[in-house]
Amino acid sequence: MTLACAGIGIGVIRSIAIGEAWHLRRGRIEARRRFISAAEVEDETARFRQAVEAARQDLKAVRDHIPKSTPTDISAFIDTHLLMLEDAALAEGPLETIREQHCSAEWALQLRCNALVQVFDEMEDPYLRTRKDDVTHVANQIQKHLQARQDKPAGAEDLNGKIILAQDLTPADTILMRNQGIAAFVTEFGGPMSHTAILARSLGIPAIVGAHHATQYLQQGELLIVDARRGVVLADPDERMLEHFRKQLAAEQAHTASLQALVDRPSVTADGTAITLMANIELPEDIKATAGVDAAGVGLYRTEFLYMNRDSPPNEEEHLETYRRVIEGLNGIPITIRTLDLGADKEVERCCHTPPPASNPALGLRAIRLCLKEPELFRPQLRAILRASAFGPVRIMIPMLSNIQELRTVKSLIEEVKGELKREGLAFDSAIPVGGMIEVPAAALAADSFARHLDFLSIGTNDLIQYTLAIDRIDDEVNYLYDPLHPSILRLIQQVIQAGRAAGKPVSMCGEMAGNPLYIPLLLGMGLREFSMRPGSLLEAKRIVRSSDVGRLTECVKDLMARIDEEDPVQLLSQLNSATH
Ligand code: PEP
Ligand code: MG
Repeated sequence: MTLACAGIGIGVIRSIAIGEAWHLRRGRIEARRRFISAAEVEDETARFRQAVEAARQDLKAVRDHIPKSTPTDISAFIDTHLLMLEDAALAEGPLETIREQHCSAEWALQLRCNALVQVFDEMEDPYLRTRKDDVTHVANQIQKHLQARQDKPAGAEDLNGKIILAQDLTPADTILMRNQGIAAFVTEFGGPMSHTAILARSLGIPAIVGAHHATQYLQQGELLIVDARRGVVLADPDERMLEHFRKQLAAEQAHTASLQALVDRPSVTADGTAITLMANIELPEDIKATAGVDAAGVGLYRTEFLYMNRDSPPNEEEHLETYRRVIEGLNGIPITIRTLDLGADKEVERCCHTPPPASNPALGLRAIRLCLKEPELFRPQLRAILRASAFGPVRIMIPMLSNIQELRTVKSLIEEVKGELKREGLAFDSAIPVGGMIEVPAAALAADSFARHLDFLSIGTNDLIQYTLAIDRIDDEVNYLYDPLHPSILRLIQQVIQAGRAAGKPVSMCGEMAGNPLYIPLLLGMGLREFSMRPGSLLEAKRIVRSSDVGRLTECVKDLMARIDEEDPVQLLSQLNSATH
């Protein structure tokens, strides 16, 4: 058995897959350099235009056949590709090159594609850098028609149980592969923020991204084991290893099935403390999964997805319609709508027409800072959230607060909007709770003051860890330093929980840490009583809650915190977890 490749594992619901390798042979279509005579230029430009049109028709056909259940972020990728086909850079640029250099359409397209890829390669933002894959994909679509290549569509193969190996996957590939029983994806490119990672998460399939040279080392048809938890692909396993992973896979499947029995069971610890388990959602479609696990509410609705892959921000009515649909789908459970958290890793310029960030985007005009600077962007959302509160229990949550003055400004804006709605005779909940995310160290240190001014607090560990430890959360070079167990992080979390308790205000956690089974006992012992996580993690969290004794955990966590500076936090946590379960 060989450890064939390692990358970044994405295993939301399942983490182990065993199956045959199936190469998706695509990659970049290369063109040969060819020159033409002046007399051929007109025909060549016409040929290029036809290829662009044919590529557009192909993409439209894929979009028109997208199953209704497909997450909207996947169809949004296709729309992005269609827009790229209309963009002068790709659709017109090669025409100039054909005319100026008297070269073939294929060569002109390749030159243009190379130049665009280089522009993306030089971008500082790792998320935007991944956009070069879109350019290559769209150029390939045109190149395919120019070179009259007839690639077999992915959907034409029997992919049941296969592990797909590719340099990268496009949304179109993924849509064609949906519902075909694919066991896992392994791609050479892409980081945790790449499209493939987003797609794998939304499809609930184990995946490994950034496994360099995977397509060279792994043979078509050979048996592979994907362990997304460890981020490794094992090739040609021996019988003993296979047996071991088959058992793990069966145990994983049995465990997932057994969790279903907990759906209707109360979320109460073994010693009788009620724990609120809520869901994080990003798209209206996520409400199905939320209902499936009987979440007590939505603790974080990330609304920025409403702004992505489009050229102008949604207006008030569009916001309202989306929120109303979500609220009605939740059948009365409360929803926490987070106001726009655009900027940094969440793309913003195209939709909101703001200048690109200069440097350090995570420290720049992001989230509430952007909203307060651009009230015309913020106001329609605030009005819509308030109006949506007439349809069911809604809470407003403000991201990235760093000082009380900022909070005062937001609150007075909310009061202003309430006044407007009242004058216009529009219904809303006048007592709508306003909470804040505690995700900047300054806010965590001043949590007592924030707790006095807010109705609830929610700890955003994804950013709190990034900002406290000075680690870019999407940079794989420093990912090894991203440590939820760093003593400073644990102290800040504890401080926020205690501040909320002292002020009599609920504190929840909606960062990834809240849904990680490893940390739940620790957080319970610190006094956290509200958790919000991806719906797929919720039943496992309930299982842990139901077997926990918070009295005991409180004592053990006191001991852990007293030893955290001197001893290895990972060891301490594992002692805590084994002593209490
Ligand atoms: C967080 O920072 O922990 C959080 C939940 O927000 P996001 O991941 O959307 O920044
Ligand atoms: Mg955050």
